Amino acid sequence: MKNKADVIEWLEENRKIFTDMADAIWQRPELAFHEFFASALQADFLEEQGFRVTRDVAGINTAFIAEYGQGSPVIAFAGEYDALPALSQKAAPIKEALAPGAAGHGCGHNLLGTAHVAAVAALKGWMAENHINGTLRYYGCPAEEAGGAKTYMARDGLFDDLDAAFNFHPLYANTASKGSMIGVNTLRFRFHGRSAHAGAAPHLGRSALDAVELLNIGINYLREHVTPDVRMHYSITNGGGAPNVVPAEAEGVYMIRAHQPDNLREVTQRVRKIAQGAALMTETEVEEIFVAALSSMLNNHTLADLQYANMQEVGPIIWSDSELDFARQINQAYPPGTDAAIMADYGFTAEKLSAPLLGENYAPLDEGKIATGSTDVGDLSWKTPVSMLTTACWSLASVGHSWGVVATSGMSIGHKGMLHAAKVMALSAIDLYTQPETLRRARAEFEKQLKAHPYVNPIPAHIQPPRFEPGQE
Ligand SMILES: [Zn+2]
Repeated sequence: MKNKADVIEWLEENRKIFTDMADAIWQRPELAFHEFFASALQADFLEEQGFRVTRDVAGINTAFIAEYGQGSPVIAFAGEYDALPALSQKAAPIKEALAPGAAGHGCGHNLLGTAHVAAVAALKGWMAENHINGTLRYYGCPAEEAGGAKTYMARDGLFDDLDAAFNFHPLYANTASKGSMIGVNTLRFRFHGRSAHAGAAPHLGRSALDAVELLNIGINYLREHVTPDVRMHYSITNGGGAPNVVPAEAEGVYMIRAHQPDNLREVTQRVRKIAQGAALMTETEVEEIFVAALSSMLNNHTLADLQYANMQEVGPIIWSDSELDFARQINQAYPPGTDAAIMADYGFTAEKLSAPLLGENYAPLDEGKIATGSTDVGDLSWKTPVSMLTTACWSLASVGHSWGVVATSGMSIGHKGMLHAAKVMALSAIDLYTQPETLRRARAEFEKQLKAHPYVNPIPAHIQPPRFEPGQE
């Protein structure tokens, strides 16, 4: 593989290796921190390809690093492979579970991780043939959907020596992001009170449920006095038992989101004060339990422009009539107007909707936009310049985390989107290895952002990641 054209050709010639890998992971969906099959499949493959593989990193047994080459620059690819609960679905255009109640790839992470594996496998061949100085690294990152392994990996310094990183996510359109996503703190507040007969001796009880309710009321009053990007949502995970018993134990889980890390820290502190106030009012004790914390996402504009340039070199995705038909059938199964609502987020109007799938390449569509979801790619993006790429893998009405996404992630539509991503990222990495000036510009942009808001890892020092053994729920 001498040049970019050879890399594209190699990926096409070897496409079956990677579509088989994505399908194998799709057929065996594994939940966050339980990705034993997927992580071993990818780590074993890269080891066979001549990568140096380190398993069980950052205290997470389904996280690994595969590395090739040496010295600088160090270019990284961060892949994911976890599935979502209760989303089992056949690779068919009608809603039908493969195994009712089982997990499914409702976010397409079977394609996500594998696209990066394909990119690094191709790049290794190109680096070897051209005697390229530099390090190529793939991070196998578990638990994007729940827990956020990258935040633990960032805390452990695993991203400290990177010069740039790529991350791809399956979605609706081929485009690199210039937008941002907000950070999140997920916490449980568990209140401990005193039980008593709710009819005969309520004055002797102290209700933990009252405390949860007062905490929720306090949060709802706080909403008026936060910046517009802030999101606070909760559910009651334990509301007590019998109504004639004053609940001694009650608990709620809370997600607090904000764009700027210092604002997120401040709003979280204010929620803690409300929890303490609720405990004070009810004469109960409050216990805070950490669930997860993810930082906001910074997308590097220099790298986004680079990816768009390479996308044009690769060309659009060409769909077959049967793929378009498959996507059309899925779209028709969602409520009317779903595709229009999803496309409105891209600023696309009705004329774009004549096709059930998008195949063209788009210049970044979200500059200046702050999406109100969160990802653990955020913590990677505070350690090195990152570019998030999306490609068309989903039909236009397939809502994220729903059956339509599982369906196209297990067949040729998802395969084509995945290979498109592998090609665009591989070509962009070639530019970074051969154009130090581009890397310098990306770095300068990153340093400027970091200077304005220094990074603090959001996980408390004493918290360890969840750890499971194979077969353990
Ligand atoms: Zn996802």
